[in-house]
Amino acid sequence: METNVYLQQQQLSDLLQINSFIHKGVGFYWGKEGVIHAFTQFPETAPSGKPILVLFKKHPPSEALEECVKQMPQIESDLNEDENMSVSQFLCVFFQSGECKAFLKNYNQIVECLVKAIPIEEQLQSLPIKTILQNKKVVLVGLGALGFRVCKDLACAGVGQFSLFDFDRLNQSSISYHLNGWKDFGRFKTSTAKEMILMSNPAARVNTFEVDILANPDILEEECRHADFISCTTASHLSRVQVNAIALSLRKTTVFARVLRQHAGGEVFRFRADKSNAPCFACVLCTGRFFQESDEDLLSSITQNHSLSDAGFQFEFTPISSFVTRGIIANLVNNEEIYNVEPSHDYAFWANKESQNFQNLWNLIYPNDDTSPQTLRWLGLNLAKFQGCPVCGAS
Ligand SMILES: [Zn+2]
Repeated sequence: METNVYLQQQQLSDLLQINSFIHKGVGFYWGKEGVIHAFTQFPETAPSGKPILVLFKKHPPSEALEECVKQMPQIESDLNEDENMSVSQFLCVFFQSGECKAFLKNYNQIVECLVKAIPIEEQLQSLPIKTILQNKKVVLVGLGALGFRVCKDLACAGVGQFSLFDFDRLNQSSISYHLNGWKDFGRFKTSTAKEMILMSNPAARVNTFEVDILANPDILEEECRHADFISCTTASHLSRVQVNAIALSLRKTTVFARVLRQHAGGEVFRFRADKSNAPCFACVLCTGRFFQESDEDLLSSITQNHSLSDAGFQFEFTPISSFVTRGIIANLVNNEEIYNVEPSHDYAFWANKESQNFQNLWNLIYPNDDTSPQTLRWLGLNLAKFQGCPVCGAS
């Protein structure tokens, strides 16, 4: 089987500038699939293949690259001497400006591989929207099942700068609805999110903060200062109120979103920093939106009670996360029309089934409609600033 070697073009270009004879890197090898991903240094997100040694050897332009294979036995002998052990598998990448060849020493065989350079920077610049998004910074507070999905979609879209806040770790109870699997048990949600971002966009800059924002509001505030957008998908009103205070003081457009328990649906509120009279999250709480469902109930129902009613709970995150992500992208590129889904409403609600909360909302929006509420669609409301709001009312 032919073996394909994937290299990052930028890494090779960088290596050309360095005057070293031979450079040791790392590769990840999927033998049965005939694929190697080679790196000049250990990547921040290690692929899952078997790690192998990769030698990068700059080749004199006078010599034909075809001669490379003849050098392999000498390289192997030097290598075995260096490492003081037999290296039975390694990859050697010979390169000069514009040319590159790779040979895999696989036990007793030397096989020439097919080299595929990945032009990451060029790819990013090929799409105008990605060029815009690459320079945008988003602060994400809360990387549970909802926040992680928002984060993943923003990374795929090409957002280039992230600050991630969550002090929670992945555990067994979250596996049924979080996108991470068992291999990440015990790890910080921020770390796995960072890896996921770098998988989609290796040029992204990601800072992670495993801190309680209630105890460390100053750290969050500092990160939000230069943010283009803030997304809050935490599981408590206390933390939402904290994010709200910072968003208000820095005048940053911020989205607050959550998925409701027992497959009820989800709700989203956006604080519009560009509107002088926009309601803040505290106004929303005071006027009865963002339902006063007990946060303890919300958490216990999804983490402790693995009953049949929670089966398929992961599906409930999709409509909410895609709505939130589209809204953020539309805001970042300052073109709501291209997405054509951004509601003009500040507050939006998605219901999977009828409930009293939803019925009340429906009656508020359609006071003269006595038909049953329609589920599985977004309902929006424009809210006014609450004059008695303890956060923004006084100012
Ligand atoms: Zn307010």
